[in-house]
Amino acid sequence: MQLRFVGCGDAFGSGGRLNTCFHVSGRAANFLIDCGASALPALKRLEIVREDIDLILITHFHGDHFAGLPFLLLDAQFSRRTRPLTVAGPQGIETRLREVMEALFEHSSKTRQRFELNLVELAPEQRRTFGAITVTPYPVVHGESGGPFLAYRVEAEGRTLAYSADTEWTETLIPLAHGADLFIAEAYMYEKVVKNHLSLKTLEQHLPAIGAKRLVLTHMSDDMLSRLGDVPHLAAEDGMVLVF
Ligand SMILES: [Zn+2]
Ligand SMILES: [Zn+2]
Repeated sequence: MQLRFVGCGDAFGSGGRLNTCFHVSGRAANFLIDCGASALPALKRLEIVREDIDLILITHFHGDHFAGLPFLLLDAQFSRRTRPLTVAGPQGIETRLREVMEALFEHSSKTRQRFELNLVELAPEQRRTFGAITVTPYPVVHGESGGPFLAYRVEAEGRTLAYSADTEWTETLIPLAHGADLFIAEAYMYEKVVKNHLSLKTLEQHLPAIGAKRLVLTHMSDDMLSRLGDVPHLAAEDGMVLVF
């Protein structure tokens, strides 16, 4: 399995990084995790074949994770996509998608798609299978608006990938990433504890209990990026490819 960071930035473009979007592919699996506002140009720049993507998992409805969908769906329509596409995310995804489509491209939510678009609501700790991929969502803690907030543990082709999504520290990150081959964790701050986001120093206290085989940090603020020289962990960069 391969994961490519299409975008690993925060909502503010810190460090010039693009909004969150990961492309995961293997022998049978081909999906995105999150689709931030900059996802479509980033996918095109990396020459990732959008037609081959079967599934998009959305962690929450903040623009840096979700607002790329209208662009991606319009592009799919105009590029004559035929392959069905599933977009799965927290409760309310159908309404939220309609709202963001209408806000960005009026009447676009009413256009009849040439391809089958399936919208699926995911609920905490209810496993769902999509073809070769099994997804277990875990509830995370990320404030009052833009939720519900889900982190994902994804099993595919004998490998396990866990993504914290945006969250402050919560005990659910332990089962989420326990023993995972790859754990992508947000590290918004270096040591300062803030609401709604994780600091690296907090995360580090829990790494032994989590026991993931490999850790990669993402969604870093300027505070965290300025400390990267002192950090012994792998930090994501846009375009970086990991084989796991
Ligand atoms: Zn974010
Ligand atoms: Zn967020």
